[in-house]
Amino acid sequence: MKQSDLHDLLIKDFDYYKEGKNAQYIPALSQVDPKQLGIALYNLQANELQTCGIPEKSANVRFAIESISKVPVLLLAINDNGLDGVFSHVDAEPTGFSFNSLLNMQIEQRKYPLNPFVNQGAIVVNSLLKGKNSDERFARILDFMKEIFNDNDITLNEEVYHSESKTGDINRSIAYYMKGNGIWNGDVEDVLDSYFKQCSVNVNAIDLANLGALLANGGVAPWNGKRIVSEESATIVKSLMLTAGLYDESGDFSMRVGVPTKSGVGGGLMSAVPGKYGIGIFSPAIDKPGNSVAGMKLLHDVVQELNIDIFA
Ligand code: GLU
Repeated sequence: MKQSDLHDLLIKDFDYYKEGKNAQYIPALSQVDPKQLGIALYNLQANELQTCGIPEKSANVRFAIESISKVPVLLLAINDNGLDGVFSHVDAEPTGFSFNSLLNMQIEQRKYPLNPFVNQGAIVVNSLLKGKNSDERFARILDFMKEIFNDNDITLNEEVYHSESKTGDINRSIAYYMKGNGIWNGDVEDVLDSYFKQCSVNVNAIDLANLGALLANGGVAPWNGKRIVSEESATIVKSLMLTAGLYDESGDFSMRVGVPTKSGVGGGLMSAVPGKYGIGIFSPAIDKPGNSVAGMKLLHDVVQELNIDIFA
């Protein structure tokens, strides 16, 4: 896309941040400046990365990955255990409840968590990783993220991690509920520690565009031609992103925007448009379900402009 056209879309959508609010339940996220909108577009056909931001360098700003971490951790768990080894512990059904709801499990008396992108499922998936404790699992997550995001500077945001850990009582309830009901049999505090850490890794919009491009490219990193995950894993993850990537707003988003996307409450959006584009967006103010308000508007407009809605 012409740089000036992309910039015009950012100008058009920037003010939507006013309709959202930074995540308040994690104190470190509430402090981030909401007046930021950055995008990175990885065009697979041209093998080119384009960025744009208001302020200008917003695509390079680092922010907490939060729920988008559920994608690389799921891919690593599949690499470790195979597809059956993961999906014999977690289902792949969408949810009409919030990402940290306990109600769905109670109402439906589920045997397994609904899907890997709600917190119940993500906690179970983290526990499936090879590694005998939180330190070992998290060291592997960080190495894998560096590879899959093509970014050696990825680090843990200690402030967000301490904030998550200190205020993570709902996640503790979810984990103890699963354990108490025989849904899962892990070491709650140890697994939550690596779960809080996976959510607290700092990334930028360029990293997210790279992961989107790798998924759009069937699991092969387009920047060096190396296969990092199987084609089948990439396909499955894209399907899950479409049905469950934006929490209980996934259906509406898929109808309006039509590209597989995963969001995080840090304000990130990561999209994979099969065979065409990886897209990363950052704007910290989110709506009630937990998705970046200006980010979703911008993604909608970019998808329309490039004519890449997968259903169109
Ligand atoms: N660390 C957050 C939590 O578990 C992740 C939520 C998100 O991005 O949806 O509550």
